[in-house]
Amino acid sequence: MLLRGRGNLRSYKRCGKKRNYDQFEAWSEDKALPAYELYDRLNSVSMFTSRGCPFRCTYCASFLLEPGFTLKDPEKDVAEIERYVTKMGINDIAFYDDAFLVNPEKHIIPILELLINKRLHARYHTPNGIHPKYIKLRFARLLWKAGFRTLRFGFEGTSGSIQKASIQKASRHKVITMISKTLWIASKK
Ligand code: SF4
Repeated sequence: MLLRGRGNLRSYKRCGKKRNYDQFEAWSEDKALPAYELYDRLNSVSMFTSRGCPFRCTYCASFLLEPGFTLKDPEKDVAEIERYVTKMGINDIAFYDDAFLVNPEKHIIPILELLINKRLHARYHTPNGIHPKYIKLRFARLLWKAGFRTLRFGFEGTSGSIQKASIQKASRHKVITMISKTLWIASKK
């Protein structure tokens, strides 16, 4: 099945590709779920809970691939996770969102609370890097309690020009504080 995506069309045009994209059905979050069940056996899967990024780091192509920033419904995200864990026996799920923690009260915090209530016993990971500036102590506790075990943070460097190009993702002080908080929480378990 081919779906007509938003950023994909724009990227193809930039590459000079000419096609009639109207023949493809329009992309939507519900139709674009991966068919992982076609594999005989899988231990881990990857997924998105949002598309795009509201920031514009000067070196990043995210906004070319996905011009808007859209958050999926937290209940649909958790239903997708539940399907992987309970129906397919998946133990590890990696999130590849570009801006996983943005707008936390409406997005990631409801997801974490739902995961905690459901007690799914899976491990979650953020290999794509998350924004350190959003990590607060309460938030870090929720991440741990929900099952997040690998947290990678986006931090390009400490120089003024790099900080400016990367929309002030986090100061060195903030990164050190955030790592201390998450290590402290992990040490209490
Ligand atoms: S925050 Fe990340 S995804 Fe967003 S523009 Fe910057 S590098 Fe790209």
